[in-house]
Amino acid sequence: MPSPTRRELLLGAGALALGLGPVAHAEPWTNQAGNVTFDPRQRLAPSTVDEVAAAVKAAKKVKAVGGGHSFHRGTETEGTLISVENLRAQRALDGDAVWLEAGLTLREASELLAAQGRALPSLPSGGDQTLGGAVSTATHGGNPTCGSLSDGDSLLALELVDAAGAVRTLEVEDDTLAAARVGLGALGVITAVKLRTVPTTALRLKRGLVSEWDGLNPERIAQHDHYSLFWLPLSERFVAVTRDETTAEAHHGNVLRKDWRACGLEPRALGKLLRKAAGDAEASERALARMAGAVESFEAVGPDHEIQLTTGSLSAIEAAWALPRESAEDGLRAIRELTEAWARDGRFFLNLPVEMRWVRGDRGTLISPTQGRDSVVFGLASHPDFVRWPDFFAAVGKSLGALGARAHWGKHGASPRNHPEWERFAAVREAMDPGGKFLNPWLEGLLG
Ligand SMILES: Cc1cc2nc3c(=O)[nH]c(=O)nc-3n(C[C@H](O)[C@H](O)[C@H](O)COP(=O)(O)OP(=O)(O)OC[C@H]3O[C@@H](n4cnc5c(N)ncnc54)[C@H](O)[C@@H]3O)c2cc1C
Repeated sequence: MPSPTRRELLLGAGALALGLGPVAHAEPWTNQAGNVTFDPRQRLAPSTVDEVAAAVKAAKKVKAVGGGHSFHRGTETEGTLISVENLRAQRALDGDAVWLEAGLTLREASELLAAQGRALPSLPSGGDQTLGGAVSTATHGGNPTCGSLSDGDSLLALELVDAAGAVRTLEVEDDTLAAARVGLGALGVITAVKLRTVPTTALRLKRGLVSEWDGLNPERIAQHDHYSLFWLPLSERFVAVTRDETTAEAHHGNVLRKDWRACGLEPRALGKLLRKAAGDAEASERALARMAGAVESFEAVGPDHEIQLTTGSLSAIEAAWALPRESAEDGLRAIRELTEAWARDGRFFLNLPVEMRWVRGDRGTLISPTQGRDSVVFGLASHPDFVRWPDFFAAVGKSLGALGARAHWGKHGASPRNHPEWERFAAVREAMDPGGKFLNPWLEGLLG
């Protein structure tokens, strides 16, 4: 994760404890994808909730940062950037639920829980996102019967430091908790979350080519614990990825690395290929054909969190939109038509597979993209060297938006469009932070 050096963080925490002024730092802050850079006045990494509270109280402008895995300027501040990376403890198990500090990454939280025979009900890909950042943006996995990490059935309560520097526990089902479940960093600094857990299992991951009709078949999808479908751009090729509970022996290890090795396509080599192909029709086609040939089939069995938290090192910019499940075919058609039209006239060559993930509608939030409706989430990714990706992503966002899609809050193109409870969210934000301590240009743009 791009972050200040350890010395800077220690200096920051020390400065805070001693009531010292801003801490100098050598380099601007950059997100994981490398498309967002800014220079906060100071960066702090407090070690206790009281230190977070003191830092928030003392600052004029504050933003919290987690793993820096979002693709937009949501973390940007001209004031104090607070990383909760030193808040990483498990507090207490309460029946099936557990209080975990917000700086734990999803991988760390999963490993902690696995050692106690417990797991989070559904996980995204990645694993280096923090709990605080993941719930702030409704990060989701691909389980058709499970909501996002922010879903009210999973995220039972939150502890946050509000704009006045007070530590608050939100556990009563009201608008404040519903807003904070997907808070966009606008309501305070989350220091801990109470999450429901389930027993650990082993999962079998299978990947294989399918026809479009089979891949979108609701009966087929319903047979699986986790389901994603990939369309390989500018082709008729679809790849289904399923993850199902199994009693087979689980093997530990980085599944994706095994997977890439099995494909004969290392992320770095693929990155190079794509960089060379940027803006070149024939080279793009060759890169896609190579990918298509490589990804035909793969199978692995592992602990549930390892099979879900797959990571690669290919740098890509991502956007995603949630549509009601019944609009899956319309959404895919819209993306295919745009991809083909933009490639035909040489404007843009979509260079990475389009992913579709099925998730259950969230409950108990105001602005989760899947709130109140079972959804299919379309994920778009591009190598950053394909220069017209922002225009293409905007065109797809417009087209899916017309079908009722809601954009992902952690990805490029986040927007309040099609959120029926946006005004209710804005009202909670105003009540929690009337002075705009947590506002930044990104949030102001969303609030209008
Ligand atoms: C490799 C990769 C894989 C991904 N996979 C998925 C996926 O499978 N599914 C999915 O839905 N998304 C996915 N994402 C998106 C990612 O999960 C979200 O962007 C998530 O917000 C990142 O968490 P973070 O800790 O890095 O947050 P950051 O990027 O650091 O912050 C995101 C937002 O949350 C706020 N925030 C962060 N921490 C706190 C806190 N403690 N209190 C209050 N506000 C806070 C920030 O101010 C910012 O506005 C992926 C991203 C990457 C780069």
